[in-house]
Amino acid sequence: MKIGFVGLGNMGAPMAANLAAAGHQVTGFDMADVSVDGVGMAGSAPEAAAGAEVVITMLPNGAILRDVAADVIAVMTPGATLIDCSTVDVDSAKDVAQEAEKAGLLFVDAPVSGGIGGASGGTLTFMAGGTDAAFASAVPLFDIMGQKMVHCGVGGAGQAAKICNNMILGATMIATCEAFALADKLGLDRQKMFDVVSTSSGYSWSMNAYCPAPGVGPDSPADNGYLPGFAADLMLKDLRLSQQAAESADADTPMGELAMQLYAEFIEQEDGAGKDFSAMLPRFERRGR
Ligand code: NAD
Repeated sequence: MKIGFVGLGNMGAPMAANLAAAGHQVTGFDMADVSVDGVGMAGSAPEAAAGAEVVITMLPNGAILRDVAADVIAVMTPGATLIDCSTVDVDSAKDVAQEAEKAGLLFVDAPVSGGIGGASGGTLTFMAGGTDAAFASAVPLFDIMGQKMVHCGVGGAGQAAKICNNMILGATMIATCEAFALADKLGLDRQKMFDVVSTSSGYSWSMNAYCPAPGVGPDSPADNGYLPGFAADLMLKDLRLSQQAAESADADTPMGELAMQLYAEFIEQEDGAGKDFSAMLPRFERRGR
């Protein structure tokens, strides 16, 4: 298949490399000067998209997606598919879906989870929104870049699923970290705390699979000096998107809002930038009531 790929950063580059390694003819474009194994480079996004059966974008935010999408939609052949794998606001995803459909294209919003490791290993999870036909056209490529996919509904539903999931994750990680800090102050051993909670009703992915306490539970960024992993900055981005969506949908999300405020303070005032999002534990450890 002839594929255009725009946005070859930490995530996009290994995803594009996996598509090329699987035998697809991939032409890429990034504003930065990058090269990716097996991927031919174009001089602009429209050049990468022209004549492609599928164009994939993996970009930083909704404003950039809107600009790039306008440029590539203009040159894409009717019947081709545009897949956006970035994490962006739901409104941008819905608007780009509409523009693509007006131009006779199939569109899928397909944000991912799994991080850089998932992108390199081809083990991402895709949360997809779009028509059945659009989703079906993207499935063979999701199969190469990922391990799991869920068709969540119409255009925008993938982004909705992603930010709802990450709102739960942000709030749960904070709850797990503050509980560890309380346990410390109560003289409870961290390993015992893990043994109880990971098999009791307080269990969660944050506790069981990504334990924020060093030396406890499975290997996680806590065991590596809190190097990401999943950076606190990216968590803050997703929490902001969830609050933006909650505002536009008139949903009451106080836990998500507080999680967003705490991550904003952590990053902007407490040296949390560039650390893993589980580094909330040392933050709570240092604090009193
Ligand atoms: P990144 O900053 O490494 O990559 C983005 C790339 O887009 C950069 O190389 C940049 O030069 C390029 N770019 C920016 N504007 C452009 C334009 N107008 N035209 C062409 N290229 C342009 O970011 P990333 O970590 O690869 O993340 C990409 C997306 O995936 C984001 O939306 C992020 O939220 C999401 N995401 C990231 C992770 C992660 O762990 N890194 C996990 C899940 C989802």
